[in-house]
Parts: sequence; structure tokens; C-alpha cells
Amino acid sequence: MRAYTYIEHGKFGLSDKPVPKLTGPRDAVVRVTLCSICTSDLHIKHGSVPRAVPGITVGHEMVGVVEQVGAEVASVKVGDRVTVNVETFCGECFFCRRGYVNNCTDPEGGWALGCRIDGGQAEYVRVPYADRGLNRIPDAVSDEQALFVGDLLATGFWAARISEITEGDTVLVIGAGPTGLCTLLCVMLKRPKRVIVCENSPERARFVKEHYPGVLVTGSEECRDFVLRHSDHGGADAVLEVAGGTDTFRLAWECARPNAVVTVVALYDRPQLLPLPEMYGKNLTFKTGGVDGCDCAEILRLLEEGRIDTTPLITHRFPLSRIGEAYRLFEERADGVIKIAVDCGK
Ligand SMILES: [Zn+2]
Ligand SMILES: [Zn+2]
Repeated sequence: MRAYTYIEHGKFGLSDKPVPKLTGPRDAVVRVTLCSICTSDLHIKHGSVPRAVPGITVGHEMVGVVEQVGAEVASVKVGDRVTVNVETFCGECFFCRRGYVNNCTDPEGGWALGCRIDGGQAEYVRVPYADRGLNRIPDAVSDEQALFVGDLLATGFWAARISEITEGDTVLVIGAGPTGLCTLLCVMLKRPKRVIVCENSPERARFVKEHYPGVLVTGSEECRDFVLRHSDHGGADAVLEVAGGTDTFRLAWECARPNAVVTVVALYDRPQLLPLPEMYGKNLTFKTGGVDGCDCAEILRLLEEGRIDTTPLITHRFPLSRIGEAYRLFEERADGVIKIAVDCGK
């Protein structure tokens, strides 16, 4: 089969590999119908994910059809259309039982697919702990609608869930890239009084204004003043930092009102400064980390009810045979690209 492979630092390529087999009773093999390209894939390509193993098939955002299941897999069966979760988790350890699946202590746990083990930019993928990692897609939900459930939407949903948003709140989302947009959609589910998005790219700011007319948009220069003018208590009640830029961590806590929750979803290239003397008395709560991707069933239900729609984020479509071109476009952020759906059957 064709599989897009991490060949060496700076180089990915389409290679021919055997179709994966079940290696244990809790595995499933999925025929990938659609996959997407994520910024984390670029991080692997450029060597900023040291645990990524050269030779592996990349890709951790995908949907497909179950081809084979191990003897102990009970939640999905052959022929089911499924989403694949970016995280592998056992469901039984201390952290999994509390919903902190990102910290699963199993040796296969965490972000394994497309990083430490073969992922889904391929015709087939083996998924360990298939009962946890796969969710059946309802008939009324298309593959494109479900494409981001296991990664981007799981992240946005988790971020909105831990940010303690209530209906009277003003919420600031920093960054309107793909993850920022998914976070925005999940924040809107909480029906806060106001949502402000901070985004400097004119193209992305326009996208937000066009698709989500109730959302206020500002750039980072004027963000602090803008939030002050558009909030009731001297700043945002909740801030979700999804940009990961040079100054966006500082912007996040500066725009927060006293006693606000600041959720950091972004992954930074560099350490960030926490100037405690300057924040003294502001009594902020910071929440940080990687997604606990255990809400996929609920996200699929919301998609089925039409309460979330991420299909406008798919700006480009490519066949697997031309995935190299798709990567170039995504990496150069050319042609207004937000997300690319790659058809793995072509
Ligand atoms: Zn990702
Ligand atoms: Zn676990």
C-alpha cells in the first residue's frame, strides 16, 4: 500500500509498505478514506518532535472503515465507518479513569499514531486499543464532517470544557488557525455573552467574520484595548491561547480579568515567561497542556445534531498520490489554505 513516510530530518515521501496486520486482540485495522495534514506533522518533518521515529508513516487525523478487529474489540465491527483518535489510551490506568487520557501510563499511550507508530496518511492504519481509539460515525455524518473529530475538534472541545465558560462571559480566543477555529466552535457551544477572536492574518480574520458573524475580531496590537472596551469586568472572563506566537502568552494573561481562567492550548517553540510580580493580585488560574481526547462520541453527537460544522475549514482536496503537493501548499499557507482533505483511496 502507499504510505506517506518520515524518511529523515526535513524529508517525507510516499513509499510502498505492506498493509498493517493486527498485532494483538485489542487492535483494529482501518482502511483510511480521508486523512488530513496537521501542523504537528510539519513539526515532525522539521525535527522538533524528537520522539518521532524515522521510517514511520505520518498522519494522525483520519477517518475510515474498519477492515479487521482483534478478538477483544467490542465497540466497533468490520464495515463500521469510524473516526480515529489522535491519542492512544488504555482506559484503565489512574489517569485514564479520571479522563486524563493524555497522560495514560501505558507504554503505547499518548500520541503514538503517526509519531512513534505508523499513522494514517496511508491506505490502511493499525489502531491499538481500538475500543478507545475508534468511534463509530453516525450515518447522517459524512467523512468530511467527521474528519477533525479525533484531533482538532477533540482539542477545541477539551479546551472549551476546561475553561469554565458561563453564559454571561466574554471569551477571548487568541489565534484563528485550524485549531483556533475548532476551539472557537466549541466555545460557541457554551453560549457565552461575547466571543472575541484575536487574529493578525487578514485572510483568517475575514474567514471568521464571514462564517461567524456574531464573533468580534481584533488584531494583536489593539487586542488589549479592544477586550477592555468589549468586556464587563476589565478583561475577558476566559482566555484561550491557541496561537503560540512570540507574545501571545503575555497577551493572554494581560487580556484576562482578575480571577479569570487562562487556558493555554498552544504549543510553543520556546520557554515562556511567567512574570509573577506583574501578575500579583490578579489571581489568575492557568490551565495548560495537551488534549485529553476522550470526548469523541459526544463531538460526533453534536455533529449529527448539526451544532458543529467544520466543513468550511476544508479549503482544499487532494488524492493520496499527490500528498506531497498538498504538504507544500499547507506549509507555505498558500491559496488561503486552512485544512486539506486527502482522499486515501485515490
Ligand atoms: Zn494534529
Ligand atoms: Zn491509560
